[in-house]
Amino acid sequence: MTAVGLSMTINGGAAPTVATFGVVNPATGDVFAQAPACSRGQLDEAMAAAQTAFWTWSADDKERRVVLGEMGDALEAAADRLAPLLTAEQGKPLEDARMEVGGAVAWLRYYADLETLPEIVQDDEHGYVEVVRRPLGVVAAITPWNFPVALAAWKFSPALRAGNTMVLKPSPFTPLTTLALGEIWREVVPPGVLNVVSGPDPLGAWMTAHPVPRKISFTGSTATGRKVAAAAADDLKRVTLELGGNDPAIVLDDADPEQIADGLFWAAFFNNGQVCCGVKRVYVHQRRHGALVAALVARAKAARVGDGTQPDVQLGPINNQPQFDRVSELVGDALTHGAVVAAGGSPLDRPGYFFAPTILTGVVDGTRIVDEEQFGPALPVIPYRDLGGAIERANGTTYGLTASVWSPDIDRACGIASRLDCGQVTVNVHAAIRPDLPLSGHKWSGFGVENGPWGLQGFTDLQVLARPRPHAQRHGGIGGWCDGVPVTARPSTGPAIVPGATGVCLRWNRSRCRGLTALSR
Ligand code: NAD
Repeated sequence: MTAVGLSMTINGGAAPTVATFGVVNPATGDVFAQAPACSRGQLDEAMAAAQTAFWTWSADDKERRVVLGEMGDALEAAADRLAPLLTAEQGKPLEDARMEVGGAVAWLRYYADLETLPEIVQDDEHGYVEVVRRPLGVVAAITPWNFPVALAAWKFSPALRAGNTMVLKPSPFTPLTTLALGEIWREVVPPGVLNVVSGPDPLGAWMTAHPVPRKISFTGSTATGRKVAAAAADDLKRVTLELGGNDPAIVLDDADPEQIADGLFWAAFFNNGQVCCGVKRVYVHQRRHGALVAALVARAKAARVGDGTQPDVQLGPINNQPQFDRVSELVGDALTHGAVVAAGGSPLDRPGYFFAPTILTGVVDGTRIVDEEQFGPALPVIPYRDLGGAIERANGTTYGLTASVWSPDIDRACGIASRLDCGQVTVNVHAAIRPDLPLSGHKWSGFGVENGPWGLQGFTDLQVLARPRPHAQRHGGIGGWCDGVPVTARPSTGPAIVPGATGVCLRWNRSRCRGLTALSR
């Protein structure tokens, strides 16, 4: 697959490329491909196609499950072609790129297999009431650049399964793999069900302001999330916002630094720290601080940083120039406020957006790298004396995505979970990301839920369906209860059938009936 030449997918086919924008390989800093820039007219076409496709697509859940399964198979078959493209535009090592594509396959299969049954609220002689989930219509899905394939899968898998159709837009920093997904599935997904468009940031704003979508599913920064929420408000579009994180890891005084260092290091540095639910701050009891810093520094120095296409590379470049500048700025700010570099601390002297894995000590609360999301390979390791104070500091930012507690005493660690204000707490590991587990940010980390049945429900509105018991309908429209058993019946007097009326039970013949109640139509 060549990067140049990928087109947008609108109504099941290739949309003509009328304008383009450059895509940079972060390992070189050079533009290596052109991606199509969607015009307003093309966005209208994509929205119209999604709207037209909705009625047929939403009607047949069995068909949707089959299509999702086929999407998973097609994606799995294309993984070896997609992974190098993902590495080229995102920077991550090839192995991690393969893993990300594999994750998207797993999400598709999970939602294809998920049993979705109506919730029955009442099923007795007085009636039958169920709560069902109805799809919303067209979903506008907008994704960031750190996991373009996986985070798109968190949206299209549940949204399509629930019966919605979609217009999907990747980040302008990483549009290519998402465009490739559209191409791969042209033969699999019915026209209009999943449209893929690409373009610079204003395209996102056009989508959120567009009159067609009934839901916006957004993953990205808190700053943009606010704009999305504001844009959705006028039209009361449903919104799910998966936003930034500033996740704390709390290391208790009984933790063995050497034992936990691998887990903690990679929880902070996987994907070069560009993970919403990665460790962004470590609070460690002061008795363990020195040993933990030493163990993390050893790993930072040993990590193999380089072009993700090269074998054995563990950490690629930062994805883009603005993010590289931000990490440089936050590390510089920490150093001017008394932080000490224990490892790294500066960019690597080579082309591309490479930054040495950085461990900082001497960082105090109130420093930007503690209070803000760095989203890059720089980790402050902060000592504490009193656990209550550490919990307070862990909760002391505007974010609340995930957190972890590290200790061999599991009960003690679990006891701290209820005091942490975030969507997920894990013990001796950071973040549990699986298709069946919800991810939902507290505070500025988000609004709504992704993944699991909860994520699917986010692509639906509730509908109450109240009716006579199904049995009654099956037997010519008149039914009742005899001795607790639903029966076919006929009224003893007149045509009026109301709950509680008497009638003739056709179950035993009238002579054997022991009391017919609650006739209903
Ligand atoms: P970003 O907010 O800059 O961009 C995200 C997406 O929004 C891009 O596709 C962009 O083109 C689009 N966009 C930009 N302006 C828009 C507007 N006005 N209206 C609609 N869309 C617009 O974020 P980013 O830099 O791409 O991603 C990094 C951020 O994403 C980090 O803060 C990270 O924590 C967060 N993130 C969160 C999760 C999560 O699940 N909570 C997952 C991954 C990343």
